[in-house]
Formats: sequence, structure tokens, C-alpha cells
Amino acid sequence: MLKPLRRLGLTLALCTITASAFADVAIVVHGGAGTILKKDMTAEKEAQYVAKLKEAITSGHAALKAGKSGEEVVVSTIQTLEASPLFNAGVGAVYTYDEEHELDASIMHGATRKAGAVAGVKTIKSPIAAAQAVMNKSEHVMLSGQGAETFAQEQGLEMVENSYFDTSHRLEALKKAKVRMKAAGKKSGGQKGAEKMGTVGVVVMDSKGNIVAGTSTGGMTAKRYGRIGDSPVIGAGTFADNDSCGVSATGHGEFFIRYNVAADICARVRYHGVSVTRAADTVINDVLKEAGGTGGVIAIDRQGHIAMPFNTAGMYRASIDADGTLNIGIYKDMLETSSVASE
Ligand code: ASP
Repeated sequence: MLKPLRRLGLTLALCTITASAFADVAIVVHGGAGTILKKDMTAEKEAQYVAKLKEAITSGHAALKAGKSGEEVVVSTIQTLEASPLFNAGVGAVYTYDEEHELDASIMHGATRKAGAVAGVKTIKSPIAAAQAVMNKSEHVMLSGQGAETFAQEQGLEMVENSYFDTSHRLEALKKAKVRMKAAGKKSGGQKGAEKMGTVGVVVMDSKGNIVAGTSTGGMTAKRYGRIGDSPVIGAGTFADNDSCGVSATGHGEFFIRYNVAADICARVRYHGVSVTRAADTVINDVLKEAGGTGGVIAIDRQGHIAMPFNTAGMYRASIDADGTLNIGIYKDMLETSSVASE
């Protein structure tokens, strides 16, 4: 029989192990990667991005601290960014060649590997909410086009006119891309630099230790023929598995699909036993770069470690780790590092 004091000690030790395993939460957000240069940015624009990233990350973090589920927080944080015209998701989505918006989104839950995605949708106000509905309310993983819209409507999700997503700066970008396409005799592509950026993504580890990842985007400027990128493709643009890590990607989607980027990073963590920082860095800065693919990822592993590598000039990003350290960056170096008061 254990003596009472020893028993108490053992109980306390067990509590500490359980607490330190899952008591902390972590969150990381991206708002797209690409040729984001300080010289092309006004101080006002920069401040707007920083403020929106900060709003998204701090409210997501507070919700996680309050015990909200990772799934809920991924959806609500992405919705904050979908509603902002600064990003290429929801309002502010890029235009297709035909001057419309076709949106893609996906979400994956690391505890169960359940996942949901929508692709090429035009009238669902929040594509990430539709992806969540596909995950929870259908027997499928990915729905596309008109079928996805009918499903969203049946689920009672808010529907809007396609023009709800319009912004003048994205229309301007399409017009410039079309001029370039014409000059180059190309039928698709043509986007350049800052004109195409702004896909959004969120990865969290919640207070139960669950890792959840989600991504939402308008895709690439001047896309046509029903082009779908990596963002709604599980394993390419989004992946989560409690035994390894969670990832959301942004960049030239065709490369992220071919290199199975999000799943590859988590496979390296799981089977090579390397850190999430090393795995994400290798895939983005070695594998993808060598292949000619541009972009970046955000990732969190099962201990709550955060990685945010990109092989472009910049990536809109923000994170709060398990210690409560807040980081916000746009270009290579962080713009802000501070501590979030722990409740
Ligand atoms: N990955 C997105 C796509 O290819 C675009 C982006 O992240 O900028 O659709």
C-alpha cells in the first residue's frame, strides 16, 4: 500500500504530466505568401495588415484559452480574414478570367482525420463554413461547384451574390494580368507579384491537444477552365494529424499539389522524427524551391511548436505559441514580437 504522502506526490506528478501535455494552446495564421516587398507597401497598408492579423490571432488565441475547440477556432479565425478585403479569401478574392470569383476552402481535424472541402464555389458567403459542413454533415470530403452550393444552401449557410466578393484592387489586378497574358500569347496565368496574394490559413493546437488546420482562398488571378488549386486538396494545401502536425499552405497551388506539401511535412515529422521546423523548412526551401514552386506554410506539431517558412520575399503571418509569445511578420524578419498576458 502506498503511504498517503507518497500517494499525494504521485497524484500531483500525474496531474503535472497531464497538464503540461495539453494545458497550453498554440495558434498560427497566414494571409498569403509572395513578392511582398517593403518598398511596394505604404505605411498605412502595412499597419492595416498588422492590425487585421493581430485581431485574428489574438481573438483566436483567447477563444482557445477559454476552452473553445480547435475546429471552432479555425473556422471563426478564418471567417475574420474572409470578411476582410485585404486577403484573397471571401471579400477581396481574386477574379477569374471571366471576372467572377470561384472560391476554394478546406478543413481537417487531427484527432479523427475527418476532413471537408469545397472547390470552385461562387455564392457561399463563408467557404470555410461550407468546408466544415461537408466534414461534419456529409459522407464526403470534397464537394465542388453547383453541387457544393446546393449542399451549403440545404445546410442553411448564408448565400450571397458573386459580386459580394468584389473589390476594385482585385479587378485592377485582373485587367493587368489580361494585358500581360495577351502580350505573351498565354491563355491562363499572367498574374504577377502582389496581385495574386492573400490566401488565408489557420492551424491550432487546442486545450485538448487536438491539432486542426484550415485554408480558404480565391485561388489565382485570371484562372480559367474551372481551375482548382491546392487549398481545398487535403494533403496538399491542408493537413492535420494529432500524431505528427497540422499544416496550411499558400503559394503556387499546382506545385503544392504535385509535391503533396502539407502531408509531406507531417510525414517527415512522423517517420523521420525530425522537428516540424526542420520538416517544413526542408519541404519549402529545398524540395519546393528546387522544383520551382513558390510559397510557404504554417505548421504546428503535437507539442505546440510553430513553424512558418516561406521561399518568397514575404508571407503575411502571425503566431502565438504555448508560452504566449506573439509574433507578427510580413517580410523576412518579424515586425512585432511581444508577450500575450496569460489569463
Ligand atoms: N495556393 C493558392 C492556389 O493555388 C493560391 C495562394 O495561396 O496564393 O489556389
